[in-house]
Amino acid sequence: MKISQVFLLAGIAAAAVSAGVASSPARPAAAATIVAASPARARATAAPSAQAARHFTLVIHGGEGNFHAMPPDEVAAERATLKEAMEAGYRILHRGGSSLDAVEAAIRIMEDSGHTNSGRGGVYTRDGIPELDAAIMDGRTLAAGAVASVKHVKNPISLARMVMEKTPHVMLVGDGAERFAQSQGVPMVTPFYFFNERRWKEYQTKVAGESIKQSSASPLADEIHGTVGVVAVDAAGNLAAGTSTGGLFYKMPGRVGDSPIIGAGTYANNQSCAVSGTGVGEFYIRNNVAADICARVRYTHVSLADAANEVVMKELVAQHGEGGIIAIDPQGNIAMPYNGDAMMRGVVREDSKMTVTVWARDGSSDVGSVSPN
Ligand code: ASP
Repeated sequence: MKISQVFLLAGIAAAAVSAGVASSPARPAAAATIVAASPARARATAAPSAQAARHFTLVIHGGEGNFHAMPPDEVAAERATLKEAMEAGYRILHRGGSSLDAVEAAIRIMEDSGHTNSGRGGVYTRDGIPELDAAIMDGRTLAAGAVASVKHVKNPISLARMVMEKTPHVMLVGDGAERFAQSQGVPMVTPFYFFNERRWKEYQTKVAGESIKQSSASPLADEIHGTVGVVAVDAAGNLAAGTSTGGLFYKMPGRVGDSPIIGAGTYANNQSCAVSGTGVGEFYIRNNVAADICARVRYTHVSLADAANEVVMKELVAQHGEGGIIAIDPQGNIAMPYNGDAMMRGVVREDSKMTVTVWARDGSSDVGSVSPN
């Protein structure tokens, strides 16, 4: 986008603010929604099954980074969003639904919330608009779907699932992905939908200081990688993983991170584990992080925790690759290592006990329980 287009968007945004429609993250999304079909929701409310009593676990993240720099009310809002997403996933798993459905449903809630760096809350590129990436993978079949650099799709995770289920491909990007979305009747949105006053101010501040050199080899430090991800094992023992993101703030237009790259930021295989990552994606791509963790589990028979720690706390740290992951294996063992300031993360199991934690050591873990209805 040329600078004039940036200002055009700024003008649109300013007009929206003065009209009182865009200053609140709680503004109605419907105004920006062109099409409102929701096949994923229909899938997510599938009929109960007799397997509901068996073990299941869902693990969630809302990004890694310097949460101390985030206003406390926004930390609280994101935490509440994760809880809501976990409840949705829990209910699907509790009635015997698949991990794939639970992952998609939980991520849709986070995409719609505006409180995470995904969907409606996606961060801005240098062009001043979000470009969204997402992927989902079925650990039972190794089927996978991904989209990258989409700008008008309300729920990229559901489009990724459609790529998986309705095309012969694994990943669609940009214009082609959006044409496919329209052909499927999925909800499309205008740039208004992504307007967020705080993010817009951050963007303008960044543009104003843009004489500073930005090395593409060392992306922005000290930001919150508020990407979202979910991994789950369902009552049938099947794994799934999904990740959705706006990527790195002020990234170059066209830049694609690890989240939609199968094996880098997202991976699931019933033979080993399911992983979703968050952090500086370039390192995750170079190190094939998600697949590497699962390969260590599968071929060297180390525990999930050891494999995840080795990759996140040693390999990535040695390269100054900031980030974290969530992971689960078919037995319901989990790992949630991160090597930066904090990672917003949560766990819910079949006993309905739920935790949402931001910092590791300050006791700020919320414990609650989910009602199955
Ligand atoms: N991993 C994401 C990316 O590099 C960013 C994030 O985790 O927030 O695109």
